[in-house]
Amino acid sequence: ILNPVERTSVTQELSENVILTTVDDLYNWARLSSLWPLMFGTACCFIEFAAMIGSRFDFDRFGLVPRATPRQADLIITAGTITMKMAPALVRLYEQMPEPKYVIAMGACTITGGMFSVDSPTAVRGVDKLIPVDVYIPGCPPRPEAIMDAIVKLRKKISNDSIQERGKLTQTHRYYSTTHK
Ligand code: SF4
Repeated sequence: ILNPVERTSVTQELSENVILTTVDDLYNWARLSSLWPLMFGTACCFIEFAAMIGSRFDFDRFGLVPRATPRQADLIITAGTITMKMAPALVRLYEQMPEPKYVIAMGACTITGGMFSVDSPTAVRGVDKLIPVDVYIPGCPPRPEAIMDAIVKLRKKISNDSIQERGKLTQTHRYYSTTHK
């Protein structure tokens, strides 16, 4: 049995050397610190995304490493207009990404169809009709600072994620995408 002085010393020792956390927190911390976005651009918005990758905006400081294959990516930033012809390819790319995965919709065209939303018979009026979107970036085109803001928002969202809830969302999406091809 410890005396009060020893107890205080043990408590202090523990508080300095032991970290208590949950599996969710540990998992989320690892994921938000190493998001790997897929290189995906279909129109002018991608020019701003490309600028993000350069040294001026230093995208890498968030742990973001652009990937050229969906199998190594856990984030897709849909930069540009999505056409009906492109839609099945986008869904397929998304489905090839391993779980857990995230989507940022960048620019007016990808969010609503933008200037093509009135007359165009070929533009998809909202990428969220195809895949679930986590963060939207309005603008035409959004600046790299807006993309950084979206990354910060996504990181906050991931930090509150629960493995269980994410699993349920994925199940819902699978049903949606396989019934709308
Ligand atoms: Fe181009 Fe503007 Fe559409 Fe982006 S939102 S793809 S910049 S027209």
